[in-house]
Amino acid sequence: MKTHNFSAGPSILPQFTIEETTKGIQNFAGTGLSVMEVSHRSKECVAMFDEAKALFKELLNIPEGYSVLFLGGGASTQFLMIAYNFLNKKAAYLNTGVWANKAQKEANFFGEVVEVASSKEATYNYIPKGYEIPADADYFHITTNNTIYGTEIKEDMDSPVPLIADMSSDIFSRPVDISKYVMIYGGAQKNLAPSGVTFVIIKDEFLNSVQREIPTMMKYKTHVDADTMFNTPPVLPVFAALQTLKWLKGKGGLAEMQKLNEEKAAVLYDEIDRNPLFKCTVKNVEDRSLMNICFVMEEKYAELEKDFLAFATSKGMSGIKGHRSVGGFRASTYNAMPKESIQALVDCMREFEKANA
Ligand SMILES: *Cc1c(COP(=O)(O)O)cnc(C)c1O
Repeated sequence: MKTHNFSAGPSILPQFTIEETTKGIQNFAGTGLSVMEVSHRSKECVAMFDEAKALFKELLNIPEGYSVLFLGGGASTQFLMIAYNFLNKKAAYLNTGVWANKAQKEANFFGEVVEVASSKEATYNYIPKGYEIPADADYFHITTNNTIYGTEIKEDMDSPVPLIADMSSDIFSRPVDISKYVMIYGGAQKNLAPSGVTFVIIKDEFLNSVQREIPTMMKYKTHVDADTMFNTPPVLPVFAALQTLKWLKGKGGLAEMQKLNEEKAAVLYDEIDRNPLFKCTVKNVEDRSLMNICFVMEEKYAELEKDFLAFATSKGMSGIKGHRSVGGFRASTYNAMPKESIQALVDCMREFEKANA
């Protein structure tokens, strides 16, 4: 039986990435060495990093004047580095989920934090709109896709102050207008690579905007100046990321990816809306994520939650249990998720409806 990987992260990767990474683990770039044992300063490894950066820039259409970094520490380390590097006096944050909230919390160590809006009171089931961003903020931080709650900001917004986005779970799912942001970052383990590498896209002009002294490793400029090799970078995860970037290019790039993601998500949302047993947890249709689809049992069928989970698991669905703060189910439908897996989940829901409604 096929296992369908709906896990939120680490999560499904293209078969291409897994196969090509396996080859590189055996023999990297004809060196006769594993990609796990080559020097990061070897010419083959430097060339591999250059190729990854170049493809990153090509696929996202990153304009001149931005750097791409591959760092350790996860998106969670970026939460503090952002404030360390850019918060002089005051920063603005949009609180749309646990990750957004964690980012905001770190900023409190460095200055004044303004929460422009929050949907916390409603278990983050919508994206707040119509808030005001203080014009004197050093930056405005958003989380474009709220992995736990299944809400997503799907358009690049205009901000009166420099805009920074955590795109951990929706990077490469759609074309992005990079010029609207001074920084975009994320852990790669949702939609790009295995865990262990954090990507950072940063506008060079923005690098020296803070007055304080910053320890070397915490300073973006260190990593930009050293071309992301100040210390030993996560070589194997970057190699895997490169394979995913090649796969994305082969698939026709991000506009094509967006189209596929919209089609895939529609199949599952349509079934959730149609099936009398289930309902989507997100309040507004326009806020529904294309990457993490959250749903629960209708109240009338609440006691069937465990049964459905067991039934779906028996049919090969893996990782569909919702986050403990929301309950119910979460199907993560990242780029690498094939349509057939979504159809298999929909078939499960229909079969379960026949047996129980
Ligand atoms: C998973 C996730 C994080 C945390 O990433 P780490 O790499 O584990 O630190 C942060 N933000 C979002 C939106 C996420 O989905």
